[in-house]
This record gives sequence, structure tokens and C-alpha cells, in this order.
Amino acid sequence: MWIKNVKLEKGFYKEQGLITSTITELADLYIEDGKIVKIEKSGKAEGKALDAKGYLALPTLKDNHVHLDKGHFGGPWKAVIPMNSVAERIQEEEEFLEDFLEDTPKKAQALIDLITGFGATYLQVQVNIDPVIGLENYHLVREVLENNRHKLDFDMVAFPQHGNLKTYEEGFLVEALKEGIEILGGLDPGKIDKDIEKSLKVSFDLAKKYNRPLDFHLHSPGSLGIYEIERIFKYIENYNMKGRVSISHGLSLGDISFHEGQKMARKFKEYGISINTTQPLERPALPFMLYINEGVQVNVVNDNINDHWSPFGTGDIIEKLNTACQIHDFNDEYSISRTLKAATGGITPLDDQGNQIWPKIGDSADILFVKGESSAHVIARRIPERVVLFKGEFVKGEFEN
Ligand SMILES: [Zn+2]
Repeated sequence: MWIKNVKLEKGFYKEQGLITSTITELADLYIEDGKIVKIEKSGKAEGKALDAKGYLALPTLKDNHVHLDKGHFGGPWKAVIPMNSVAERIQEEEEFLEDFLEDTPKKAQALIDLITGFGATYLQVQVNIDPVIGLENYHLVREVLENNRHKLDFDMVAFPQHGNLKTYEEGFLVEALKEGIEILGGLDPGKIDKDIEKSLKVSFDLAKKYNRPLDFHLHSPGSLGIYEIERIFKYIENYNMKGRVSISHGLSLGDISFHEGQKMARKFKEYGISINTTQPLERPALPFMLYINEGVQVNVVNDNINDHWSPFGTGDIIEKLNTACQIHDFNDEYSISRTLKAATGGITPLDDQGNQIWPKIGDSADILFVKGESSAHVIARRIPERVVLFKGEFVKGEFEN
């Protein structure tokens, strides 16, 4: 299949030494067996070609942390009931989890359609593994995800929302691992488990025994959160698990100085820890480009979309980047364009010096086509006209004039 008139980023345009815009060029792409086989100058497409009408090609998006269970989206609208603590929120959820099961597949599908419709083709999906519903959400959401293999790749995370230790002691974490869940989640070893060492030991023992990566949800601010992270460094070293751990939220990383952040970022790089951040508006958001510039993989993520924790969330990772740019005051073409790394697993059309590095012949044909001028334009204006190609198949949208 030929796709003609595809806009590709070619380099940065400089005026008096400053990058002021992105240079683009029209190209024709030939797609075969899910791969990009030819990239030619515009006008080279032979025979029947699909016209991309000048849409810009970007790598498809990744949402590395999203909950597809226990939400309201896809069902009746509901805002949040005011509560005083996370413990109360967990108690609230214990009371409705069983009743929610019936609609879980329908709601999970609605969320998948929403998120993939914006251009995501990879989801890392959190599901509750807890003493109330055991593995039931896992089974229901997994089946829905399997039915969507034509438009996404995914991994699932066993998320012990009601406490790591409690869920482990009742046998559910081991059960989920034995059933093949891809990633083991952990939650606030200080605040929820109230025993940092015991909680981390259980997580790392299980990860080692069942050979799974770990994803810790860390919500504790300030020194408690930083202490938990420092203990995680130690456990990674002791269990020889460099490159196998991610930290979600890591809210305390938004509370430290720039200088401390730099030191922290080097540690994250050294231990191969990736970060998933929602870039919250209600508190200091971690300076994610500081970490990316030190070589850490940072993902800007949806997390929860309209559930009993929050009524907000649009499902669009580009919108999340837009918010992040506003929080950190990135206003210029170059700075905005660099944030795309946090939405694509690190892939950008141009490298930091402006050399074209994507797409290349032989790449998987996963392309988000957007009616925009450049990465920065798409992010700053949250351009809605999008067409999604996944493994060489169109899964969403049509090219508009
Ligand atoms: Zn989460």
C-alpha cells in the first residue's frame, strides 16, 4: 500500500542561532506486511495510492499507566464524593467493586476506544488485584484487551490497591503472577503498608521468583517519598534488578530542588528506573525533562479517567503533554517538540540536534497522522484531526481536506 503526501519532519530551522520552526517535506510511504518498506520523495508513489493530504506523520502514542477497571467512564456520569483520605477512598471502593463487575467489560472498551482514538497503540494497564474481587477485574479486562489486539499492544500490571502486604498474604499476587500477568505493581510501602522494608522485600522477592518487572505507585510527598525511592535503589542493587523497575507518580520528586533533582535523575539513570507521571496540576509536578535529559525514560500518562478518585482526564496523551508544557513554561518550537519523547516511549522524528531519525525503512508501520505542521504545533494546539495506522492497518480516522 502506498500512502502519498505524508508530511515528515526533516530538521530545525534556525534564525540567528535560535530554532524558530521545523522544516518539513512531503513524502510517499510504501507499507507492506506491517512495515514501512519504502520512503520516497513526494510524487514517486506508483499505481493506486492513499492520499494523506499533507498530514504530519508522528510515532504512535504510548499510555504507560492507565486503569481500565473500577471507573465511571462508559457508564453514568458521576463526580467524586468528597472524602478525607486515601484510606477512606479505598474503603469506598471496597463497597462497590463487586457491583461494578457486570459493567467492567463495557467500560473498559469505552476507555480503550477513547485512548486509542487519540493515537495510542500501546497501553500498560493497571488492574486491581485485591481481597474483595481477587482476580476478577484482571480476567474481565484481559479478555477485552485480547479482543482489541488489532489496534493495540498491551501489558498488564497487578495493582494491589488495598495494600501490597494484605493482597500478598491472601495469596492473590502469587495467583496473578502464576496466571501470567506481565508486571507486578506495588503501592506506597510507607503510607499504605506502613512497613517499608517488609513491603519492598515482598515485592522484590516475588519479582525475582517470577521474573517480572516492578511498577511502584508512590504517592507520598516530601521526605517519606524520597526515602522510599532511596530504599528502592538499595533493593534494586541487592536483587540485581537494574532496568526492571518503574516508578509511577513519584510525587516527592516534585518537592525537591533542581540541584537535588539532578542528582536524583542520575540515580534513576544508573538504576535504569523509568517514570510514569500524570503531571498533576494541584501540586508541584516533577520536572520530567530534567530526567529525560539525563537519559531516563519518562512517560506522561493518563492514569485514571473519570473514576471515584477523579472526575477529570480526557484520555489524550497529547493533551497531557500540552499541560506539561504549560506547567514547565515550555513555549518555543524546540522545547515543546522535545516533550514528545514522553508520549512515544522516547521516539521522535528529529533527534536533539535536528537530524531525522524517524521513520526509517524497516520500522513497524505504527504512525499517528495529524493535520499539523510539526510536533510542537500538534502539542501546543492539541490538534484533533488524527488518523491512526497500527502495524500497517488503519484503525481510526480519515484524512480530511
Ligand atoms: Zn494509577
